[in-house]
Amino acid sequence: MSNSLEGGTEETAVDVVIVGAGFAGLTAAERLVNMGVSVLVVEGRDRVGGRAFSGEVAGVKVDLGATWVARRHTAIRDLASRLGCTTTSQFDEGHNVLWMDGQRSTYTGTFPAVSPEAVEDLARIQMAVAELTSTINVDSAWESPDAGQLDAISFGEWLDQQQATTSTRALMTILTKVQWGCSPGDVSLLHALRYIRAAGGVEHMLSVEGGQQEERITETTQEIAVRLAERLGDRVVVGAPVRRITQDDSGVTVSTDSKVINAKYAIVTAAPSHRADIDFEPALPDKAEGLAKTWRLGTLSKAFVAYEKPFWRSSGLSGEALTDTGTVFITFDVSPDDNGPGVLMAFCDPRVFDGFNPADRRRRVIDQLVELYGAQASAPIDYVDHCWGPASEPFAPGGPNPAVAPYASVSYGSALTEPHGRIHWAGVETAGEWAGTMNGAVLTGQQTAERVAQRLGKRADTGAQ
Ligand SMILES: Cc1cc2nc3c(=O)[nH]c(=O)nc-3n(C[C@H](O)[C@H](O)[C@H](O)COP(=O)(O)OP(=O)(O)OC[C@H]3O[C@@H](n4cnc5c(N)ncnc54)[C@H](O)[C@@H]3O)c2cc1C
Repeated sequence: MSNSLEGGTEETAVDVVIVGAGFAGLTAAERLVNMGVSVLVVEGRDRVGGRAFSGEVAGVKVDLGATWVARRHTAIRDLASRLGCTTTSQFDEGHNVLWMDGQRSTYTGTFPAVSPEAVEDLARIQMAVAELTSTINVDSAWESPDAGQLDAISFGEWLDQQQATTSTRALMTILTKVQWGCSPGDVSLLHALRYIRAAGGVEHMLSVEGGQQEERITETTQEIAVRLAERLGDRVVVGAPVRRITQDDSGVTVSTDSKVINAKYAIVTAAPSHRADIDFEPALPDKAEGLAKTWRLGTLSKAFVAYEKPFWRSSGLSGEALTDTGTVFITFDVSPDDNGPGVLMAFCDPRVFDGFNPADRRRRVIDQLVELYGAQASAPIDYVDHCWGPASEPFAPGGPNPAVAPYASVSYGSALTEPHGRIHWAGVETAGEWAGTMNGAVLTGQQTAERVAQRLGKRADTGAQ
């Protein structure tokens, strides 16, 4: 891996230039290299991994971005295991804490049982969601039956129409904040249904055992990307934002501040809204422009608080909490074991977090952990946080997923994957199956590489090196 600042302006020629060194870009590169195609991956940040990014708290490596892999996420798991990364089960023993309507209670299982009526209402809404998701075509949701109607209202408006109770709404708000980094009123019902279907349903999305939160990557998710980039060597250049892509009948030219790369094809893995930061010549068609302008990424922030020991475990608590008020809205226990530092991972609402200075952010999180876990939570030994909004991530901010407002799926969704001449699109947003997950990102990288390789007259690759 090299840094673009190390050289002056230079011109390079390869078969395929890949924009972005997240999971989609790196796996596209790996697959093409395995087929004998020459590649260069250009990444705007000074690191690889994209939305997978590691930090450290009390000497424990933590995931500031993507964390979990489900058993069904076989593409990312295969990649991790080929690169010598291992998985750790998400700690899930004991009671979970619920903070709702100013009341603290505990529960077990995926969904809190606030009252028999609340359980019944949640089941009713889940069934209605399941019925609607069964009609969604994940590869092109905008072509699903009733797509126009489903895209004309927000998930929040639909919950209103269904007369969802306060507790059901609170849970769906938590799901929306963690999945799309926004409120239910900000995301189209069609878009929400597409992601829920792609993620295997609400229960799979929210569960630990047998669900999306079942396991973490022990070495951190970014470490998978770091190891893959190491294998790709000088084919990966970081600190090189792509400013301009021009093309004609013979090829594409990709320009960064210090490099000009000539190639036969380009694969762009930037999230749709970041495509808009690149100057394309010829310009993108109207639909693709519309996509780049409307499929903005939501935002989510995370804090990690370390204690001498995971003290909550000895009180029979799992470290999992759901809250409907304040800054923190979910917590999980990501401690290495019973004896080492205890680490709580807290998902924070950027609207009441990102704008504060680091000391205030820390205080807000710890105050809330005291409400959830008691006075012992007031004495942490270390703290780290990360905001995915533009304050901490000036380049390509946002995540986990696009918060697509009503009408923008039907109007622009087809532009997600439609090539623009010699420019092909990959990245998790282009995934059908497993959209929204690292697994989806890996699949799109590999599949797009296969399509481009075919155009270059190469034989399909089977995967592993
Ligand atoms: C807080 C958070 C929590 C998450 N939790 C999970 C989880 O638990 N499990 C899970 O499976 N997924 C999770 N995700 C989602 C997961 O991280 C993404 O789906 C996946 O990493 C996307 O990979 P990608 O390669 O498609 O995109 P990215 O990782 O975004 O990679 C795209 C790359 O392109 C680069 N780029 C953009 N524009 C340019 C340009 N002009 N020039 C050069 N480079 C450019 C970007 O810098 C970036 O590195 C989470 C994400 C976040 C933010």
